[in-house]
Amino acid sequence: MQPRTVLGAATVHRFDAIVVGAGGAGLRCALELSEHDYSVAVISKLYPVRSHTGAAQGGVGAALGNEEEDKPEWHFFDTVKGSDYLGDQDAIELMCEEAIAAVYELEHFGLPFSRTPDGKIAQRPFGGHTRNFGEAPVKRAAYAADRTGHMILHTLFDQCVKKEVRFFNEFYVLDLLKDGDACLGVVAYELATGEIHIFQAKATFIGTGGYGRVYSITSNAHASTGDCMAVCLRRGIPLEDMEFVQFHPTGLRRLGILVSEAARGEGGILRNREDLDNIGSGKDGFMAAVAPTVKDLAPRDMVARAIYDEIKAGRGIDGSGDTGSDYVYLDLVHLGEMVINTKLPDISHFSRTYLAVDPIVEPIPVQPTTHYAMGGIPTDTQGRVMRNARNEPVEGLYAAGEVACVSVHGANRLGTNSLVDIVVFGRRAGADMARYLKDAQFGHIGSEPDAFVRSEIDRLKHGGGKERVADIRKAMQSVMMVNSGVFRTEENLTTARDTIAELRQRYRQVGVGDQSDYFNTELVEAVELGFMLDIAGTIAESALNRTESRGAHSREDYPERDDKNWLKHTFISVDEDGQVSFDYKPVTITKFKPKPRVY
Ligand SMILES: Cc1cc2nc3c(=O)[nH]c(=O)nc-3n(C[C@H](O)[C@H](O)[C@H](O)COP(=O)(O)OP(=O)(O)OC[C@H]3O[C@@H](n4cnc5c(N)ncnc54)[C@H](O)[C@@H]3O)c2cc1C
Repeated sequence: MQPRTVLGAATVHRFDAIVVGAGGAGLRCALELSEHDYSVAVISKLYPVRSHTGAAQGGVGAALGNEEEDKPEWHFFDTVKGSDYLGDQDAIELMCEEAIAAVYELEHFGLPFSRTPDGKIAQRPFGGHTRNFGEAPVKRAAYAADRTGHMILHTLFDQCVKKEVRFFNEFYVLDLLKDGDACLGVVAYELATGEIHIFQAKATFIGTGGYGRVYSITSNAHASTGDCMAVCLRRGIPLEDMEFVQFHPTGLRRLGILVSEAARGEGGILRNREDLDNIGSGKDGFMAAVAPTVKDLAPRDMVARAIYDEIKAGRGIDGSGDTGSDYVYLDLVHLGEMVINTKLPDISHFSRTYLAVDPIVEPIPVQPTTHYAMGGIPTDTQGRVMRNARNEPVEGLYAAGEVACVSVHGANRLGTNSLVDIVVFGRRAGADMARYLKDAQFGHIGSEPDAFVRSEIDRLKHGGGKERVADIRKAMQSVMMVNSGVFRTEENLTTARDTIAELRQRYRQVGVGDQSDYFNTELVEAVELGFMLDIAGTIAESALNRTESRGAHSREDYPERDDKNWLKHTFISVDEDGQVSFDYKPVTITKFKPKPRVY
């Protein structure tokens, strides 16, 4: 039994290490820690296997070379180029080398990968992954049909259960306990009871995923609200490269539900309204002119822009030219029933269920959807959180996965590289925490460590505010989608920034109708909205600040990449009065000098 005491009205727990988040990053970190003789607890606002990692479809990238020749160095090059040269090359090289062992480790944990005829882990091509430094697409994505993330999540959870890792499920972390530059644990709200819990720890890991719900059209789950990025920002930790938001080219029209790049990896082709006669033929579509070598398997930033360019030129399927409502087709018809049903079962099911479109006989209507956070909490390659651009750590605080910025994805993540990121850096963080714990002590948490959380909950429940969460959330999601999306300008980003500032004022008047303590999801949504508004503000500010186009950050008023002035990471901070400031960190460049990005 771990020490459990009461402080005021809060229960205090003490663990050597706590892991916040039970997605792939958190579980991999917890598993590493479980190899040592330390007390460890995982705290998650969702039941672990409902974490968003379970939604990942297409694959995990590693140069296994099971289907054709491949090398970690090629993976390294592709990731650097895909990042538009903003990724830190020391971190990328390490990730691509360790990816191979990480995938075999998952296999040995029992992950049921799809197989080649001779029994090896099957692999398929994915956007931006090439052989021999860009010659042609390469089969690098190891997959379990189109349920790879689901299998990773269940496999890691099973291993954690086997190792008797302690879980606090449906506990919602709302604050970080800090003493100067050290982290002492977290404050959490128990959904089932409405009780406040203080988790005191010598080392704390954050693996709370992304923030896709800041936007109206997204592939992300309802729980992807950027909570702990915002918690860190509020506690004086800057966020890195927040301007870089990935828009995946192929979300189901209007819904944003993802159609994995695996569909194009298996041979799917994007088609515009001038190309309808070619449906089912397997002939090239409009991407052949944009990226002659890799065509539909160009990186996501390029494909998303190409789709919007087609729409703006009046070649979208409805021809309206409206990037909000028009769309293109993803044609899988030529792949045939066998491939679609065995290799892409989930996404064809989504298409049939949500759009009543059967991809075996007709193309799927798609449009770009908000997908992934390249930026986040700054860390080094051991997962240690940095408190500034000078690489000075926050003692005892770690992060990895989508919430973090290490930075391996730079300005644009390649498909399959997030699942690699979570297992490689989740493990590395766990290993470094174990090392750190040898000499670490518990800090002094003071008499009212939960005061801020209590006053926030009290304000939301009993403050008499008349503003409604749903109204503010809808306005935030809409302004971000329209003004801080695939294409950006000073004018529309200023609109986004100013609207978010107004919405934050309105948020102070938010009131929650449900007064109960038990499973008060209305209260949780109100808290999440506060976090999302903070994140939306940092995205708009950072995007306004970066006056160039790079990767997923595409400024129509600054259309060129500007290596002279902007080959650097941005660190945004917001002080207690809401004043925003920026600092910068050079990009680590080792082997690959920046070049124009042509595919
Ligand atoms: C539809 C879809 C398909 C994808 N396909 C692929 C793919 O094929 N290949 C690939 O590489 N990547 C893919 N990705 C991206 C990848 O799945 C994610 O980036 C990755 O799984 C994130 O893992 P994570 O562990 O960082 O976070 P998550 O899996 O999002 O886990 C976050 C955890 O934090 C917890 N949490 C959040 N906030 C709090 C809080 N305040 N208090 C307590 N707990 C909290 C949650 O309960 C959850 O357990 C896909 C993404 C989507 C949306």
